Formats: sequence, C-alpha cells, structure tokens
Amino acid sequence: MDNQALVQACQWTHVLPVYVWDDKDQNPWKPGGASRWWLHQSLKHYQTVLRSLGSDLFIVKGRASERLTQLAKDLNANVVIWNRSHNPSERDDVKDLLDQLKNIQVSSLVFHGNLLGSVKDLAKKDGTPYLVYTPFWKNFINTYQMKGLAKPKKIPPLPKMDKTYGASIESLGLLSRFKWYKDFETHWSVGEEQALKKLNDFLNARVHTYSNHRDAPAVDGTSKLSPYLHFGEIHPQRILLSVAKKFGSLQVSNNESVERFCKEIVWREFNYHLLQSFPKTVSSPLRTSFLKFPWASHKQYFDAWKTGQTGYPIVDAGMRQLWQTGWMHNRVRMIVASFLVKHLNISWQEGAKWFWDTLVDADLASNTGGWQWVAGCGADAAPYFRIFNPITQGEKFDPEGQYAAQWCPELKKLPQKWIYKPWEAPEAILKKAGVKLGDTYPKPIVDHKKARALALSHYETIKNQ
Ligand code: FAD
Repeated sequence: MDNQALVQACQWTHVLPVYVWDDKDQNPWKPGGASRWWLHQSLKHYQTVLRSLGSDLFIVKGRASERLTQLAKDLNANVVIWNRSHNPSERDDVKDLLDQLKNIQVSSLVFHGNLLGSVKDLAKKDGTPYLVYTPFWKNFINTYQMKGLAKPKKIPPLPKMDKTYGASIESLGLLSRFKWYKDFETHWSVGEEQALKKLNDFLNARVHTYSNHRDAPAVDGTSKLSPYLHFGEIHPQRILLSVAKKFGSLQVSNNESVERFCKEIVWREFNYHLLQSFPKTVSSPLRTSFLKFPWASHKQYFDAWKTGQTGYPIVDAGMRQLWQTGWMHNRVRMIVASFLVKHLNISWQEGAKWFWDTLVDADLASNTGGWQWVAGCGADAAPYFRIFNPITQGEKFDPEGQYAAQWCPELKKLPQKWIYKPWEAPEAILKKAGVKLGDTYPKPIVDHKKARALALSHYETIKNQ
C-alpha cells in the first residue's frame, strides 16, 4: 500500500488498478524462474488485498504502450498513473506509452516506484552521477528529507467495464517453466504484511548485532528483506522511516549497526543510480578495459559451480542454498561470484544470468552492481587482483563450519579444522566422517594457488589498457 502511483490515483472517482505482463522475447531481462514464483504469489496476494478493499487487480498481457492506451480509450480515462520501470529494455515501450497517451489526450503521471529518489535528486551538484559509494552516502545522509509515506485511505470503485476483459494470474503461466520452487514455500511468505513483520522482527532484535553478524552466513543476522523490496512489497522509505521512528535517527551514536543497515538500504539506491546513469552495464562492464578480458567458457566447470559440486565447501554450500531457497547470504554471494570469475575464468555476465534465474530477489540494479563489484569492472569495485581464498573465507566467516555442514551434509561429520579443506584431511579422519573424496563429495575442480596465478596473468593482459 506504499505504492505512490496508487495513492495518487485514489484522488479520482474511479480507479482501475492494472498489472501489465509483457513476456516478449526481445527483453533479455524478463523475470527468471525464481522471480516468477515470487511474482505469482505477490500478484495473488495483492489482488486479494485490493478485493478486500472493494477494488481488484486487473491483469493485461502485451506491450504496456498498446494495452494501456487501448484501455484508456475504452474506459474514456482521464489519466494513466504508473511507477517507473527501471529495466533499460523497457524504455522504448514507456516512451511509446507517453507518446500514445499524449496523442489521445490522456494525461500521464509517473512515480519513482520503489526508490528513495530519482537519479537527478541523488546526483552530484554538477548533475553527474556518483561513481564511489562513500560520497553518495554522505550526500544522501546530509540532504535527504525524511517525509511521511502516504497510504490510500480508501480505494475508489472500479469503472464500469466488461469484467471478462482482463486475464487471470494463472494464465500468465508463471509457475509452468520451473518446478524446483516447491521448496521455496517452506522458506518464504510473500506479501506486504509479511514484509512489515520481517522488518519489525529485525528492528526489534537482530539490527543490534547487524555489524557483527552480517558477514556470518550461519547466523540469521540480516533482514532478508531483499525480495520484498524488489517486488515493491515494502518501500525503502518505509524502512528508513521505521528506523528513524525507533532510534530517533538513521545514524545512532552508540549503535553503529543501525547506520550500517541504513547504508545497505542506500547501497541499493546507489546501484539504481548507476543502472539509470549507465544502462549498458547490465551486459557490458563499466570499466571498458574489461571488454577485452580473456574469459573462457568451461561448460563442465560452470555446471559444477551451478550445482554446488566444485569441491570447495563454501562455494558449494552457497550454490546449494541458492538453489534450495532462492536466496544466498551476501558474504557467500561475493565468494561464489569471485570463484566463478577468478578461479574458473568464466565471465561475470554468465554468473549474473544464473543468479537472475535462481534468486527470488533477482534485481537488475543490485545483481549487475554486485557482479561488477566482484569482477573488478564496475563502479567503486573491489580490485580484480583481490582474489578471495575460498578456504580461508569459509574458515573466517563460518569458523565452526555450521554453514558448510547445513548445505553440504555429506561433510557434517568432519571436524571443523578440515571442513573447509577436506582434501587436506588425513585419510583416517575422512574415513571416520564417512567422506570419500571424488565419491561422496567432489575433489576440488581447480587448485586454488594455480587458479589464482592464472587469474592474475589474465588480468595482466588488460591491466594497462
Ligand atoms: P540486509 O543485509 O538485511 O540488507 C538490507 C537491504 O539492503 C537488502 O535487502 C538490500 O536491498 C540492500 N542491500 C544489502 N546489501 C546490499 C548490496 N551489497 N548491494 C545492494 N543492496 C544491498 N541484491 C538484490 O537485492 N538482488 C540481487 O539480484 C543481488 N545480486 C547480487 C549479486 C552479487 C554477486 C552480490 C555480491 C550481491 C548481490 N545482491 C543482490 C546484494 C546483496 O547480496 C543482497 O541484497 C542481500 O544479501 C539481501 O539480503 P538481506 O535482505 O538479508 O540484506
């Protein structure tokens, strides 16, 4: 209900809430399989809420410009109000929509959607985009005006129309392509009510230890709000307002965790700032020297990575968590991404596509930003030569090996000393733990030291370009 387009629309006598589903093939960033599962639940949920308020959610299929213009004509509408799409491949459709509505003399009103501001609002004083996060954050925290977020008091009735005109949510076939999502139901409850509950639970307990726990994948230390934010079930401003209400400010002098959490919410905004300023980065590196990077396509390695069979437990645990739950811990996202790009020399674009299909929070801005950060080719990115060691990263952030044991249960009887490097464990220990390398659990598909040296030699070929 924090949907500002709907709030605005509620000032009119009649309102028709519409969701447009365009599954056209030209859009390379149509929602992936896991996102479709979430979207299906989310539309159902929203429709139920709107019906309980005497309204409905009307589903149409096709190009937004064609379908909405036709609807506006059929209903003799005064205005079409929507939340901006941030997907660069939908820009032409939106431009056509604006032109066609103008041609039939219907007004249009466009809102930021689930963002805190527009690129213009958050740009530097000279209007150019920020490329480094810290000054972006400083500017944000010094200039952002915290305003209330309006909710519709009541939703005006639907216009008189033929009820058979719209499509059903089922007819979108969002659940037909993939079947693995069955498990997601045990991990996620979709919808605004759940999002608010998650936020409150987090602010009442876990936010206090966020700084310490946010890097520990075995601990339930983060908010898990990312899919709710992506699907507009909670507004980032609602989150910041709740933080300010509870703690008096977004920066609390005796609680660095609160500020840390707000910084992450604003990091999401930074990624949108970059996406809107550099739309080509969804498929092309921001640092153009990386266009010549000598990536390879190793199908066997890529399959091992996707299925959590690389022989490196922190990588395999992360990839299995992703497959089974549609979500992966941020620290582990960084490790598995680094492993793909640097140890396996497979391009970040390939990894981003896999995440796009399997993450319930798959988000063009944050996924692109995350992958380019790890690959060293984005704004404010980790330098390419910073190569995560998959053994020490596991040992450092999951010292007791609980995360590895949870997602790679075949290793759970190994003592913690060996769980992140089973190939170094003495034979007797492996035997006692029931681990047979190459049989019950894979041997490492690449040698860490050799892979690291190779990655650095690849980097040398583009470093000075
Ligand atoms: P919390 O730690 O509770 O943070 C609160 C919110 O802040 C998150 O919900 C998210 O909206 C935002 N946030 C937190 N960390 C980041 C970050 N590093 N970058 C941008 N926003 C952040 N996030 C997505 O939402 N969608 C993606 O498709 C996505 N792909 C990623 C790919 C890679 C390779 C990497 C390294 C990171 C990616 N992230 C993505 C960012 C991050 O991993 C997730 O936002 C975070 O793990 C979500 O968990 P949470 O909600 O518990 O986060």
